[in-house]
Amino acid sequence: MKAVTYQGIKNVEVKEVEDPKILKADDMIIKVTSTAICGSDLHLIHGMIPNLEENYIIGHEPMGIVEEIGPGVTKLKKGDRVIIPFNIACGECQYCKNNLESQCDNSNDHGDMGAYFGYSGNTGGYPGGQAEYLRVPFANFTHFKIPETCEEPDEKLSVISDAMTTGFWSVDNAGVKEGDTVIVFGCGPVGLFSQKFAWLKGAKRVIAVDYIDYRLQHAKRTNKVEIVNFEQHENVGNYLKEITKGGADVVIDAVGMDGKMNDLEFLASGMKLQGGTMSALVMAAQAVRKCGTIQLTGVYGGRYNGFPLGDIMQRNVNIRSGQAPVIHYMPYMFELVSSGKIDPSDVVSHVIPLSEAKHGYEIFDTKTDNCIKVVLKP
Ligand code: NAD
Ligand code: ZN
Repeated sequence: MKAVTYQGIKNVEVKEVEDPKILKADDMIIKVTSTAICGSDLHLIHGMIPNLEENYIIGHEPMGIVEEIGPGVTKLKKGDRVIIPFNIACGECQYCKNNLESQCDNSNDHGDMGAYFGYSGNTGGYPGGQAEYLRVPFANFTHFKIPETCEEPDEKLSVISDAMTTGFWSVDNAGVKEGDTVIVFGCGPVGLFSQKFAWLKGAKRVIAVDYIDYRLQHAKRTNKVEIVNFEQHENVGNYLKEITKGGADVVIDAVGMDGKMNDLEFLASGMKLQGGTMSALVMAAQAVRKCGTIQLTGVYGGRYNGFPLGDIMQRNVNIRSGQAPVIHYMPYMFELVSSGKIDPSDVVSHVIPLSEAKHGYEIFDTKTDNCIKVVLKP
C-alpha cells in the first residue's frame, strides 16, 4: 500500500510499504478514506519529537471503512464506516474508565504516557494513518462508528478524530464558563475550534492571537472573534492585559512548539516580540488574569527552557494541560456536526490526493496558499 513516511527533517515521502496485518484478536484493519494533517505532525517533521525513525508511517487523523476484524472484535463488522481517534486506548483501565483515554495504561509498552497513531516510538510506536490501510489496536474501544443513516461527507467528519474534539476538550478542560473572557493563541485548526467552542460555553469575549494575517482574518470572519496580530505590538502580553482590564479568565495555548522558538533569547531581549521566536506560553502567562487558567493544548515534546514560572506562581495562575482524551467526546461531536450546531467545513481548506502529501505538508507548514487544514484522500 501507499503511505506517508518520515524521511528526516522537513521531508516526507509517499512510499510503497507493507500492508498492515491483524496482530491481536481485538485488532481491525480499516481502509482509509480520508486522513488529515495536524499541527502535531509538523512537530514531528521539525524534528521536535524524540524517537522517530526514518520510513515510519505518520498521521493520526484517519477515518474509513472496516476492512477486516480480528476474532475478538465484537462492536464492529466489515463495511462499517468509522472515525478513528488519535488516541489508542483499551477502554478498561482506570484512566480510560475516568475519561482520560489519552493516558491509557495498557496501550503504550514503551513509555509512561498514552499511545497515539503515527507519533513516534515514545507514544507506542504504532504506524500512522496517512496510508491506504491502518491497523487499529483495541478496536472495540478505539473508534467512533458513524450511524448508517448518516450522509455527511468525510470532510465534515474527519476533524472529529482530533482537531475539533481537541478544541472542545481545551475549553472544557480549562473550565470556560458563562461570561468568561477567553484568549486563544493560534488560529490553526485547533485554535479555530477552541474559539468556536468558547462561544458555545458562553464566553462573553473571545480574542484570537496569531501573526499569519489570512488566518487571523479567517478567525474574525468565521468565528466573530476580536483579533490581535502579536507582531504589531511591542509587548503583546501587556497589550492583552490592558484591553481585558487585567487579563483573561482563560488563555488557551493552541500553538505549542515552534520550530524557530528560542525563549532564552526572547527573554534576554527584554521580550521584544518577533514572529516565531517567542513562545505562546510566555505570552499566555502575561495575558492571563490573576488566579486565571492557562490551558496548554499546544504540544511540547521535551524539556522546555524559559518556562515563565514567576508569572504563573506569583499570580496564583492555574495550568491545565495534556493530550486530549478524545474518544468519550466523539459521540457528542458527531451530534453537533450532524445536527448542524457546529459546521466544521470552514476549517478544512484543502482536500487533495494522498499521493500529493508532500505538497500538503509544504503549504500547511509554510502557511501558504491560504492553507488551514489539509485532508488527504488515499
Ligand atoms: P497549526 O500549525 O495550523 O496552528 C498553529 C498556529 O499558531 C499557526 O497559525 C501559527 O501561525 C500560530 N502561531 C505560531 N506562533 C504563535 C505565537 N507565538 N502566538 C500565537 N500564534 C502563534 O496547528 P494546529 O493543527 O492548529 O495545532 C496547534 C497546536 O495544537 C499544535 O502544537 C499541535 O501539536 C497541538 N495539538 C494538540 C493536541 C492535544 O491533544 N493536546 C491535539 C492536536 C493538536
Ligand atoms: Zn492531530
